[in-house]
Amino acid sequence: MSSHTAFVTGASRGIGRACAISLASAGHRVVLAARDLAKLESVAEEIRATGGTAFVSAMDLSSEDSIRAAFKQAASEAGPITILVNNAGITRDGLSMRMKREDWDAVLQTNLTGSFLCIQQVMPAMMKERWGRIVNISSVVGESGNPGQANYVASKAGLIGLTKSLAQELGSRNITVNAITPGFIDTDMTAVLSEEVKQRMLAGIPLKRFGKPEDVAAAVRFLASDDAGYITGSVLRVNGGMYL
Ligand code: NAD
Repeated sequence: MSSHTAFVTGASRGIGRACAISLASAGHRVVLAARDLAKLESVAEEIRATGGTAFVSAMDLSSEDSIRAAFKQAASEAGPITILVNNAGITRDGLSMRMKREDWDAVLQTNLTGSFLCIQQVMPAMMKERWGRIVNISSVVGESGNPGQANYVASKAGLIGLTKSLAQELGSRNITVNAITPGFIDTDMTAVLSEEVKQRMLAGIPLKRFGKPEDVAAAVRFLASDDAGYITGSVLRVNGGMYL
């Protein structure tokens, strides 16, 4: 298997952390990016302890300058980035009627605009290498919709549209662009939900369990591999069957 430099956003915890660990164990150099350097450093240490190569990069997706600086630093330390995992994401839930403009903007900026800006940063190197893998972490609700999450759903549905457009723009350069739509995954993001909500969701999951970050990471690792070279513009559901 060929070895690449992978850049994972939101790698300090949850799904992003699992993706970084999995890509490192596949032999890739991994750049971990998020806002909190201390947390990133502890994940990087975990990877190094198992013989992997990891770099850290402080990056705030709500700032274009910060994104640019992070990718510049990453490429100079770890080499041309040919795998990008757009994983970082936030929620600011609320019914649309009362949703504050700042909550709409923050979610769209981080989840959708931030991901697009990251992709723009890696495109030149991927084109030059004539090999690239972009994996966007969307969500089951980006396909199904969800009341109380209009901002989040719009950002995640937007990521699916972005994925399909870029797959067509970049295919001739041997760059694949795919989206993953995780269902309910056990992380800090879902820890805030009430027990009642969790039980209701569980009842609708044919596989009768919540997902683990590693379930999503396995799909990311596959889509980033040479084996997935003929898959582009696809939306891979990692949701235990909760939405089909
Ligand atoms: P999490 O809240 O545990 O982790 C989110 C990560 O994103 C953290 O590392 C955080 O530091 C980073 N981040 C947030 N805002 C940032 C910013 N402005 N700049 C840089 N980094 C930022 O979430 P998670 O559950 O691991 O989710 C990861 C991704 O998977 C998200 O895009 C989320 O929408 C998506 N997702 C999660 C679930 C789930 O059930 N947990 C389901 C579907 C999709």
